[in-house]
Amino acid sequence: MICIIRLANQFILRENITNLFFTPKSLRELTDRLGYSLLSYTEGQEIIEHQSLQSYTEKKAFTVFVGDARIILYQDNLSFSEKVFVILHEIGHIELEHTYFGILGKSEDSAQSDAQEQEADAFAYQVMAPLSFLRRRGVSDTEQIKELTMLSGDRAAHVLALLHDSTIRDSNDALVARRISRAMPRVKKRCSAAIIFAVILALPALYGIISFVGTFAGADEALPTQINSPDLPDSVQSVSVTETYYVTAQGEKYHRAGCRYLKNSTPIPVTGDELQYYAPCKICFPNGG
Ligand SMILES: [Zn+2]
Ligand SMILES: [Zn+2]
Repeated sequence: MICIIRLANQFILRENITNLFFTPKSLRELTDRLGYSLLSYTEGQEIIEHQSLQSYTEKKAFTVFVGDARIILYQDNLSFSEKVFVILHEIGHIELEHTYFGILGKSEDSAQSDAQEQEADAFAYQVMAPLSFLRRRGVSDTEQIKELTMLSGDRAAHVLALLHDSTIRDSNDALVARRISRAMPRVKKRCSAAIIFAVILALPALYGIISFVGTFAGADEALPTQINSPDLPDSVQSVSVTETYYVTAQGEKYHRAGCRYLKNSTPIPVTGDELQYYAPCKICFPNGG
């Protein structure tokens, strides 16, 4: 595994990856530089059918060479952070010069295929969450990994296990950690959803206090206060926490449902933290997002 960490560190330095929060634009620029096209399964449907690659579409992504073209194909409806992971996994196959057998990373020997899959995963983990950077920040739990990287859930837990287990050191560790540390904010700015959530939590409490005071003000006034209570959910809804926005497989903007930019592709709903990786569409949000 030392070899994977070393190659991933070299890749991070060579491609000047300092911001761990990829955007659709920075991800595409990276694959462009490497000379690979990115196509979702829907966009690459013709190629998939023509090359009889249907059986591979069970995977989240795979890489094929068609004539001179080198193409990374991926599932349409992945969350953006998962899309980054699977595309970096494919880039791992490329960088590690894995064998090509129908698709990149596959081998006639299934043990070799499995080993290559693990290596490509290890590469993706190191690029999305460089261990030396996380050590420099003194990371000790998964919450901190979620704050500092795009990884979440099982993937963040996997990185924590790597941090605990791994005694592997590479000569570029310090340089990688320093460069990324300089580019990354100390504390990631949290999505304003947290504030909205706090307001929602606070509103019923406030309402409770008001009606409590109301009952003291006089029994006559207590009743109208209760009748007015359905107003509260409306004011919460006006914060539009529940609105779902949409992106397209290749797009860099998020849209409201029905936007004309969504017409020619499959809209992918995007919510919560994922929104931060996209910019607001100018048509849908004339005043900014
Ligand atoms: Zn693979
Ligand atoms: Zn739009």
